[in-house]
Amino acid sequence: MRGDAVLIEHDQNYVDGEWMDAAEGGETDVFDPATGATIATVPNSTGRDVDQAVAAARRAADGWSRTTPRERAEALLALADSLLQDADAMAGVESLNAGKPIAAARAETHGAVERLRFFAGAARCLDGRAAGEYVPGHTSMVRREPIGVAGLITPWNYPLLAMVTKLGPALAAGNTVVLKPSEQTPLTALRLTALATGILPPGVLNVVNGEGRSAGVPLVRHGGVDIVSLTGDSATGRDVTRAAADSLKRVHLELGGKAPAVVLDDADPVEVADVVRGAGFYNAGQDCGAASRVIVTDRAYDGVVEELVRAVSSLRVGAPADPATEMGPLAHTAHAERVRGFLDRAAEAGTSFLTGGGGADPGGCYVAPTVVTDVAQHSEIVQREVFGPVISVQRAADAEAAYTMANDVVYGLAASIFTRDIGQAMDAARRLRFGTVWINDHGVSASEMPWGGFKESGHGRERSVYSLEEFTELKHVMVKLPA
Ligand code: NAD
Repeated sequence: MRGDAVLIEHDQNYVDGEWMDAAEGGETDVFDPATGATIATVPNSTGRDVDQAVAAARRAADGWSRTTPRERAEALLALADSLLQDADAMAGVESLNAGKPIAAARAETHGAVERLRFFAGAARCLDGRAAGEYVPGHTSMVRREPIGVAGLITPWNYPLLAMVTKLGPALAAGNTVVLKPSEQTPLTALRLTALATGILPPGVLNVVNGEGRSAGVPLVRHGGVDIVSLTGDSATGRDVTRAAADSLKRVHLELGGKAPAVVLDDADPVEVADVVRGAGFYNAGQDCGAASRVIVTDRAYDGVVEELVRAVSSLRVGAPADPATEMGPLAHTAHAERVRGFLDRAAEAGTSFLTGGGGADPGGCYVAPTVVTDVAQHSEIVQREVFGPVISVQRAADAEAAYTMANDVVYGLAASIFTRDIGQAMDAARRLRFGTVWINDHGVSASEMPWGGFKESGHGRERSVYSLEEFTELKHVMVKLPA
C-alpha cells in the first residue's frame, strides 16, 4: 500500500493522551520526495508546546517508574503486536514520506517490531554487581532506576526505526518520553504513537512536531528533561551538547559516520562488490554506517574497481512504490541539493567518476548511484559525510597504509575489513577506531549488539542492554546491619 492508498490519519502533536495543534498555530509542510507533492501539514511547535509535553511527561513519570519490568515488557510487546498488524500501512507511509523503496520500508517496519520485542525482553533482565558485605557490618546493593523524562530527537533517514530504537530502551527502563521527530519525516512516528494509545498511559509518550530550532532547542534546554538522546548530524550534536550544558543533563549522541570498507589483497572482488552494492547504497546511502570509503590494497585494486562499477551500475533506481526498486529518491529536496553540491565540488577538484555523478530520472530528489576515484585523502569527498549514493575508492600501498587511511577521518562509527586471513582480520578489528567492525561483511545489525560511535560519531550506545543502561541511573544502597 502506497501512493493514493496511503492514509495520513495523524498530523498533530500528542500530549497527555490528546491530539492537538501547536499553541501558537505554526505549521510545516511534509512532502513526498519522489514527486514533490505535499502530503501533510504538521505543527511547527515552540517552547510553549514543549512545556506542555514535558509537564505531561513529568506527571506520568512517577506512575510509570513504579510499574514492574514485566508490566513495561507487556506494554512494549503489545505495541510490537499492534505494529505488526499495521505493518503494511505503516510501511506505505514510511515509503511515501521518506522515499524508501516499499520493500525496504516493509523490512524496516518488521525490524522495528523485532526491536520493540528485544527491549521488552531486556526490560526484565537488567543486571548489576552482587549485593554483599563490602564493608564489615554493612550490606551494599545497586539499583538501576529510571532517569525521569527523556527527550528523544530523531532524524529523517530511518524515521520509524530511529524512534523505536530510542523509545524501546527509554520506556523499558521506566522513563517517560517527549519525542521530537524529524520535521521532514514525522508521519510514521505519529502513526506509531496512535497505535500506542490505549497501551501506554497518558503522558508516558508525548510527541512534539517541529523544526530543530523552534521545537528541538527548547526540548534540549528544558529543565524538566533529564536526558536527551539525539540521532543526527555531528554539528547538531555539538549544538545539543552546548544547549544541554546549562542544566547539565545527560546527553546521548548518535551522529554521523564515514565508514571505510578495507579490502586486502586476498579478498574476493566479486564478494566485496556485492556487499558494498548493498551497504553503500541501501537507503540511497543515507545511512550513518554506509560503506562510503572503499580502501583497497595495491594488488586487489583493479579487480575490485571493475567489480564495483559492474555491481553499482546494476542498481535498480525507480519509484518507491515499485516492489522491484532498489533505490529511490533522496529523502528531501535540500538534502538532494546538498549531495549534488558534493559531486559538483568533487568534479571541480579533478575527481574521476567511474559511474553516476549527477541526477537520475525522473529528476527532483533522485541522484544516480556514484563511484568516484582519484581522490586525495584530505579531499572533501573522503573526509565529510555525503549521506547519499556516493562511494569513493582509494588505493593503499599495503594493509598498514589502508588502516591509517581508514582511521584518518573525524568519524568513528563503523568499518569493515575484507580478507581470508583471520589473524589479519582480528588485527584490523583491534586497530580500526570505530564502534562496529565487520569482518567480510558490512551493514548487518543485531538488536542484541551495541551500536554507537568513537570520536565525532557521538557517545553512548544504542540497541543492546547497554542502551537500556544509558536510560538508567545507578544507585548504591548501603544498609548498616545490627551490631
Ligand atoms: P539533523 O542533525 O539535521 O537533525 C536531526 C534531528 O535533530 C531532527 O529532528 C532535527 O529537527 C533536530 N535538530 C536539528 N537541530 C537541532 C538543535 N539545534 N537542537 C535540537 N534539535 C535539533 O540530522 P538529519 O539531517 O535529520 O539526519 C542525518 C544525520 O543523522 C547524518 O549526519 C547521519 O549520519 C546522522 N545519523 C546517525 C545515526 C547513528 O546511528 N549514528 C543514525 C542515523 C542518522
